[in-house]
Amino acid sequence: MNELLSDIYVIKERGAFGAFKPEINIYVLAGPDGLVFDAGYGNRSAVRHLMRELGAIGDRFRSKGRPFAVRRVLISHAHPDHFPGLIPLRAELGLKIMIPARSAEVIRSAKDFYGSMDAEEEDEFLLRRRRAGGMRSAVRRMLMRHFYRRLYGLHFLPDPDELLPDTAELDINGERWSVFSSPGHAFDHISLYSPARGVLFAGDNVLRSITTWLGPPNSDLEAYIDSLERMLDLPKLEVVLPAHGSPVTNPRERIREIIDFRWKRTMQVYEALEARDGGATMDEVVRALYAGEGRFKHEMARGWVALTLRFLESRGVAERSETKREIRFHAVAGASERDIHGHLGKPVGAAGGKTDSTSRAGKNGRKIS
Ligand SMILES: [Zn+2]
Repeated sequence: MNELLSDIYVIKERGAFGAFKPEINIYVLAGPDGLVFDAGYGNRSAVRHLMRELGAIGDRFRSKGRPFAVRRVLISHAHPDHFPGLIPLRAELGLKIMIPARSAEVIRSAKDFYGSMDAEEEDEFLLRRRRAGGMRSAVRRMLMRHFYRRLYGLHFLPDPDELLPDTAELDINGERWSVFSSPGHAFDHISLYSPARGVLFAGDNVLRSITTWLGPPNSDLEAYIDSLERMLDLPKLEVVLPAHGSPVTNPRERIREIIDFRWKRTMQVYEALEARDGGATMDEVVRALYAGEGRFKHEMARGWVALTLRFLESRGVAERSETKREIRFHAVAGASERDIHGHLGKPVGAAGGKTDSTSRAGKNGRKIS
């Protein structure tokens, strides 16, 4: 563990297999009435590590004659790298489990959790048609469940101790913290903020050097941008403590950069449609944007591309044509950038006319990360 700010510690839980199981940060707001933010993985070695590290923080407090007790645990959202540690934390330390009401619905049971990522439904959300053989999707589903159970140590939670509404005020170690809803990456995502300190626990919404994964069925592009813009409006913002990676010490700049990046990506998808007479399927857009990249990259990119196509459709600048075999998207000719970005906000680096040249510059041959 590591004390990042006064009495705010991070405990890192190791990942495995790269993006399949990311390293995750668990934060401890340490003091006489402390709180753990995000619960991490639920497999035995992860839980043992967490207990050891929490114990070490307690020892450090006691050695200085300071009172120490951690009483509550709160998660940012119901993804499998954030919630499985809840049950072990309650069992081992008697922590009270507080979670957003919306997260509670997802992790109540295996049925609810897997129901939210059903394979056929996923195909529909991903805007493609596939003849999903019963056998094939059943096998896929089984493998996925096995994978999650073993690798993440899933524990479901039928009985949380306290459900949080969309906004709430918490007293943690005598300091006031606000919980507010910040959907986008996940529909149930919340953030935890100290107006006095200017510290924001932003979960997966603001990461320092990697792009937040976005994809159906739980993400929403417009909601994501709205959440980021709300963060820019916070009265004081000194540091963002993200769920993955190191602290973001230039939070406003980084948040603007993320908004800008989503805007640029949205333009690229529109341009990919515009470049094809017969329109393009979601997979064709992915192949156009990630030409020369491997299958894994393509797989990971499907989510945000599907979301972006839906967004363009909602803006009235793309239209779909459906046949039994596929769903194609067509650019509506003559759409202006303003028609396209709408809610996505003005690109940051681009005052006035600079917008066009910067956001369109990448069209040919630029490396897309
Ligand atoms: Zn997540």
